[in-house]
Amino acid sequence: MRCPLCHVLIAATLLCNVLLLYYTWHLNSRPAGRQSPSPTLSPGITVIVREFRTFEHGLADLNHSFLRARPNLRILIASEALPYPPVPGLNILRIHPSPEQPVSAFRLESQIHTRLVALVPDGTSLNPPDLLDKMARALRDAPSAVRIVAAGAGPVLQCLHLNVSLRTWTAEYTVVSAGETCGAVSGSAVLLMRSRDLFDLPFPLARPVQSTIFIQAALRGWGVKVLKEATFPRTPLPATDHGKWKAEQADRAEEAATMRALNIRLVRGLEGGDRWYGCSKETQRCFGTVVGETPEYLYEGRWTPPCCLRALRITLLHVVKVLEASNVRYWLEGGSLLGAARHKDLIPWDYDVDIGIYLEDITLCPELRGAQGGSLVDSDGFVWERAVEGDFFRVQYSQTNHLHVDLWPFYPRDGVMTRDSWTGHPQDIEFSESFLQPLQTLPFAGAVVQAPNNHVELLKLKFGDRAIEEPQYPNPALLKMNRR
Ligand code: ZN
Repeated sequence: MRCPLCHVLIAATLLCNVLLLYYTWHLNSRPAGRQSPSPTLSPGITVIVREFRTFEHGLADLNHSFLRARPNLRILIASEALPYPPVPGLNILRIHPSPEQPVSAFRLESQIHTRLVALVPDGTSLNPPDLLDKMARALRDAPSAVRIVAAGAGPVLQCLHLNVSLRTWTAEYTVVSAGETCGAVSGSAVLLMRSRDLFDLPFPLARPVQSTIFIQAALRGWGVKVLKEATFPRTPLPATDHGKWKAEQADRAEEAATMRALNIRLVRGLEGGDRWYGCSKETQRCFGTVVGETPEYLYEGRWTPPCCLRALRITLLHVVKVLEASNVRYWLEGGSLLGAARHKDLIPWDYDVDIGIYLEDITLCPELRGAQGGSLVDSDGFVWERAVEGDFFRVQYSQTNHLHVDLWPFYPRDGVMTRDSWTGHPQDIEFSESFLQPLQTLPFAGAVVQAPNNHVELLKLKFGDRAIEEPQYPNPALLKMNRR
């Protein structure tokens, strides 16, 4: 080759190719599982206002206060509907899908472009102006388990521990001991967290925002750091009596809907005592017809909803009161006797209560006599009826809620307690009348009730030698208990 320029060109082309190859290889060789920081998220904080009421709010003031302190902030008003009447100058984050819009329009990811988000309740002002920055620094400097920084909005926050058990459908708040990380706070707060963490939550903006976020955080093991030295000024809204009343109604309805969506039926440890979100006398019980002795919740790794256990206890105590008042001889039967022996209460996954009675005593009890002809609603709203499934009685919690106590009539024949029809369950067998002579009392479901004497022996007879020590689901052939 006699062309020096050609040499240079060829060398340059080769070099370009090598560089291009290296670049492509470099791009492709990034670890696939780890997400690189999305180019769409920039430094900064997006303020989201979700806790407000359309009928009486201070959104314009809030917007003004935050923008005056920090002109570059993006403030999103998160709402199912546009505030009405409309407020000019607000950025609305529509969180409810609308049939003519693409689904991406309602994804938080398409609306939030900063790495951090602050959830701010209505009525809050940003003062001093660097408060959000302080929170951001606290989050950056916190141990990795801390994923949320909380600062009071108005009153001082109390740090709480939050234990969420999906198996028992329960969220329980307790006051933390000194030095422990919080899992939640009580009192109105501004919450600051990473946008990606918010995107990961299946219920990012369901109301009430604070407790919904804390419950999801607890399930992920996320801690909450309380910024003690900083508090946002806040005027609680709505401020009028009528507005407050309307807001309280809406709060209650939304809280109930959200807790049910989160599969929480009982919240303990908050102001005002236990809060129930499950079934009541006026609503149907929380689960459908039981097939194969295995209620649906067991397949989902859950035990009987606490509202249902409570209704069963109430029904049992009512039945016991009526039977004792009529001098009907009764005793705990089957799984209920097993629960009494194990932990003085219902088995936590049981779905009914079983009681045995002497057949000849039925005539002593007006409710049972009434039930023999059909069904009877007593003055407390419990329904007494002859079971359609066989020769026994059933007492339901209410006409709507069919949680029930079954009453099995036995009669003695040659010293053996027997019945004319049987359920076919292995534990449903004849037994010596000596277990009932005399009856004894056992603590059960918060009361003292009658039970067979020598009940441990009777249970061994019915359920096998190790039934008390080795719990099992009612029908292990369908579903075995997962002992971890
Ligand atoms: Zn229930």
